[in-house]
Amino acid sequence: MKIKYYGVRGSVPTPGRATIRYGGNTPCVAVWCGDDLVILDAGTGLRVLGDELMDTPFGQGKGRAVMLVSHTHWDHIQGFPFFTPAYIKGNLFHLLGAHQINKGLEMAMHHQQQYQNFPVLLGQMPSRITFNSMEEGAVRQMGNIRIHTAELNHPGGSFAYRIEYEDKAVVYATDTEHYANVDLRLLTLARNADILIYDTHFTSEEYKSHRGWGHSTPDEGIRLAREANVGCLHLFHHSPSHKDEQMDEILEQARKEFPETHAAIEEWEVAI
Ligand SMILES: [Zn+2]
Ligand SMILES: [Zn+2]
Repeated sequence: MKIKYYGVRGSVPTPGRATIRYGGNTPCVAVWCGDDLVILDAGTGLRVLGDELMDTPFGQGKGRAVMLVSHTHWDHIQGFPFFTPAYIKGNLFHLLGAHQINKGLEMAMHHQQQYQNFPVLLGQMPSRITFNSMEEGAVRQMGNIRIHTAELNHPGGSFAYRIEYEDKAVVYATDTEHYANVDLRLLTLARNADILIYDTHFTSEEYKSHRGWGHSTPDEGIRLAREANVGCLHLFHHSPSHKDEQMDEILEQARKEFPETHAAIEEWEVAI
């Protein structure tokens, strides 16, 4: 299993000198399970992934991928119109979202590419794009890949995914706000995972004035990682206002509590 980060920033693309090391693209993570590709979210990082895929069978219209969409907030879908492999006939993309937001997913993807917003309609993209939904708690087997889900705590809803392949597991839980006690659904989903990718948009100090915004903190990520016996915690959905130096400090602080902590960085690749 191989994971590569293409977008790690939350809310809005954040280019510039202050974010050059961690990166400014919005969420997109590629998970390779052997030759099979699972894409987590379609933020602006998807454009870069798309360019890389053009050197693979996707460039000849022979690619297929599953795209798991956490939810339809802009930062998680806005890369799709710029995803070059979707313009190649023969490629196949299965977009998967939560049952309750799936209609919303399909609609949001169409709305994003209305003529007022973008010159190419979703239906005019030559690749085949399908929309599928999952209920919370449902398990989907796709070849050798198994996908589990849990609903998160976020305005408008959001879905976490656990991807299992061979004896490895990665959990992607972004855009969620913690509760007073560890979220039991998330705890179950994350149990014994090798990697937990978690929404750490705010520091604990910042969180005090951002309750109800639907995001969490490194401290809560560590609490969850400990209770779920996770191998490694990846801080994710970095705040647009967190410059590289502050990200270094956040990471250093988190490592004191949970040494197996990393901050997701654009173009970082991890094999497990
Ligand atoms: Zn977001
Ligand atoms: Zn969101």
